[in-house]
Amino acid sequence: MTKRVLVIAAHPDDETYGMGGTIARHVRQGDQVTVMIMTDGVTARHTVTAPQEAAALKACAILGVEDVRFGRLADQRLDALPLLDLIRPISAVINELGAQIVYTHHRGDANQDHRAIFAATLVAIRPTSACPVEQAYSYEVASSTEWGAPFAETAFVPTHFVEITATLEDKLRAAAAYAETHQSEVRPFPHPRSIEATRIYAWQRGVNVGVPAAEAFVSIRQIVKEV
Ligand SMILES: [Zn+2]
Repeated sequence: MTKRVLVIAAHPDDETYGMGGTIARHVRQGDQVTVMIMTDGVTARHTVTAPQEAAALKACAILGVEDVRFGRLADQRLDALPLLDLIRPISAVINELGAQIVYTHHRGDANQDHRAIFAATLVAIRPTSACPVEQAYSYEVASSTEWGAPFAETAFVPTHFVEITATLEDKLRAAAAYAETHQSEVRPFPHPRSIEATRIYAWQRGVNVGVPAAEAFVSIRQIVKEV
């Protein structure tokens, strides 16, 4: 059965590094996938935002996603916004789509924008009878989740693994699209955002659960109506 899926990302490229293989799998099985990117991703460093959006559209097209939304908020400044200013656009898109599955950031990430997105998502998916969300997950992002503060309460402890053996090459091609930005988001190996590291991370999550390649998630909530 077709599912309505929303992927929320703080920055252009988080969706691909975090869960590009899973996005491609949703699309391949006929699900309706929307990617919502909340900030421009670059203005903490420079002002050239257009190539970042172009790269996001190209990467998402490689993954099979046509519905890409841009919040265009300021990069690395979400912690200065009232949380309500993040909750409102996320709630609006959840309701517009009738999103059944929502993917968001991990609350323990090193990046403060990621943490703000997690907090806003948690409010936007509160399980009232009017909320369409049945499943919500946090994904990990290379060079943010593993660089988080080393405390138990911020640890990423995955509970949900999606095999991406069949879509790993699509993920790597999508990640490569981000090399064409004003300042490349793809870094040389051994940076976690190198293409080589992206493959290694997928292999690592795969071998965690006995498959060649996977992406890992923390389940925030799953509402089971039939067992
Ligand atoms: Zn990010």
